[in-house]
Amino acid sequence: MSDTAFSRLPLPPALLTTLQQLDYLQMTPIQAQAIPHALAGKDLIAQAKTGSGKTAAFGISLLLRLKPPMFRVQALVLCPTRELSTQVANELRRLARFQPNLKIITLCGGQPIGPQIGSLEHGAHVVVGTPGRIADHLRKGTLQLDAVSTLVLDEADRMLDMGFIEAIEGIIEAIPGQRQTLLFSATYPDEIRTLSTRFQRQPVEVSVESVH
Ligand code: ADP
Ligand code: MG
Repeated sequence: MSDTAFSRLPLPPALLTTLQQLDYLQMTPIQAQAIPHALAGKDLIAQAKTGSGKTAAFGISLLLRLKPPMFRVQALVLCPTRELSTQVANELRRLARFQPNLKIITLCGGQPIGPQIGSLEHGAHVVVGTPGRIADHLRKGTLQLDAVSTLVLDEADRMLDMGFIEAIEGIIEAIPGQRQTLLFSATYPDEIRTLSTRFQRQPVEVSVESVH
């Protein structure tokens, strides 16, 4: 068994079975670096490019931290676009097969807000979405984040490039300080460092490529 086999990790057997069914046998480099820290509850700043398997890098520990009987939003994943939010939500749903009855919803701009409010009324464990629309729901009082214990900023550099910093700050302020914050970014400019300093606690840094 290689060092990067998923079966090396202390994961519940049902999750290992799901990973096998998905043909996920070896961890990608970012997964091998990030997952053990994420499982240990550490904050993480991870530098990795598109297609490197970031969703499972944060998704596995995110799903394991959920308390399924508590039907409240316990994990929030912020993404730059609707397309990326949809991809992340679909990947999380595939990984979540080991744990039936988890509800994962997307909240993105450019979509009618009425059905989103309806699905929030029915309840969800995980919300994936774009910062602008999630901030809208907070303002309207249609989304509560006080039970969130895992926050993921996916493609954080792109979200900052798109001008989402104020929305992101407002959202983080609505989340309890007792949380795990996982920050993923393809690049590591000063703005990302500042964001990390403000909102993370002693983050472990992992990277799979050199910075130029
Ligand atoms: P990123 O967010 O870094 O762009 P994704 O999380 O979307 O990457 O993953 C890219 C693709 O690789 C997806 O199709 C996903 O299903 C697949 N994948 C991720 N991790 C593994 C793995 N360990 N083994 C096989 N395929 C994987
Ligand atoms: Mg991704």
